[in-house]
Amino acid sequence: MSSLDFISQESAFGAHNYHPLEVVIERASGVWVWDVEGKKYLDCLAAYSAVNQGHCHPKIIETLKQQAEKCTLTSRAFFNDQLGPFYQQLSELLGYEKVLPMNTGAEAVETAIKAARRWGYRNKGIAAGQAEILVFGGNFHGRTTTVVGFSSDDAYQADFGPFTPGFKIVPYGDLAAVEAAMNGNVCAMLIEPIQGEAGIIIPPAGYLQALRALADKNNCLLICDEIQAGLGRTGKMLCCQHENVRPDLVILGKALSGGVYPVSAVVGDDKVLSVFEPGSHGSTYGGNPLGAACARTALSVLVDEGMVENSRDLGAYALERLCKLDSPHVKDVRGLGLWIGIELHAETGGARPFCEALRGMGVLCKETHDYVIRFAPPLMISKADLDWALEQLEAVLTAPLPVAK
Ligand SMILES: *Cc1c(COP(=O)(O)O)cnc(C)c1O
Repeated sequence: MSSLDFISQESAFGAHNYHPLEVVIERASGVWVWDVEGKKYLDCLAAYSAVNQGHCHPKIIETLKQQAEKCTLTSRAFFNDQLGPFYQQLSELLGYEKVLPMNTGAEAVETAIKAARRWGYRNKGIAAGQAEILVFGGNFHGRTTTVVGFSSDDAYQADFGPFTPGFKIVPYGDLAAVEAAMNGNVCAMLIEPIQGEAGIIIPPAGYLQALRALADKNNCLLICDEIQAGLGRTGKMLCCQHENVRPDLVILGKALSGGVYPVSAVVGDDKVLSVFEPGSHGSTYGGNPLGAACARTALSVLVDEGMVENSRDLGAYALERLCKLDSPHVKDVRGLGLWIGIELHAETGGARPFCEALRGMGVLCKETHDYVIRFAPPLMISKADLDWALEQLEAVLTAPLPVAK
């Protein structure tokens, strides 16, 4: 079957909830992927930062194979020999007392919401049913009904209501708005330290620190959704570490397993996570030995192979180079680590044709929110491969407007 055959098969039998670039990937290794015709591409999306460690990292795949042959799922009705080591490794890596494992990012966000509400009722004394969580305009925290209920994006919400009450949206980056929204019923603020899906939006310097201070002053929790920003993407293990901020809860997913298996987690101290007693929350696959084993190796290679530092150094280099670019199409270039948003002028008609042109040149990027090209290769990319990708980007951005397909 050719690429076109696979695309028409997906289109015929699958729900159309995505609009993929027309490339059918069959094989992947490190930063490279190959389509069914054998054409090679440099992956500059890295599965929305789930493959920070590179595609099919040999050590993670070895762990996957070995663990798959031993034991894959026990359910939490029993203990398994992989979960404890995973808990200890993750809590020591991030400096927290406790870990609660789930599978997808959205489930971990839901878990953090439950934890914050319970904490609000049981520790802060909020009256029953009154807890509020402050969230931010432009947020993306996943696709469950509760989570899309506090999105500010119509595409995520339209006709999916009614939604869960108890969330208040304040503009991202606006401290006065958070202060104005604060009241005795607020149990938590839930924030992405950099908004990925919204277009790599970076809040003003000191913003997270100010939120931390506000949370302390008002006895509410600061929850950072680091599902996309965390695990090295921005050049630190956690994005909030750029401001030396320690959230009460950190939400992880995506690269937590290096792209081989869905593993997510909420990490925090006992004072919050102890609100869960047996029976109050769970997941059949959450904490399974296959996921836990993969996550352990995924975390180890991130550290042992210097990927966080590589993201910091090559990210700074790429950002500087792209900022210097003299392109009539580019409105703004911003980023941190190997996470760069190239925002195009409205007159270009959008980022999609640029991503299609790049695909033709062997570079896979994906537009986010119409006008932003997201550049986010695996964090183990070499300088030579990065240079090559940047050359292609520079060529597309300085050429006449690509024609929309
Ligand atoms: C991807 C993402 C999620 C949702 O993760 P899923 O695994 O797709 O449910 C939540 N928050 C952020 C910031 C994300 O990037």
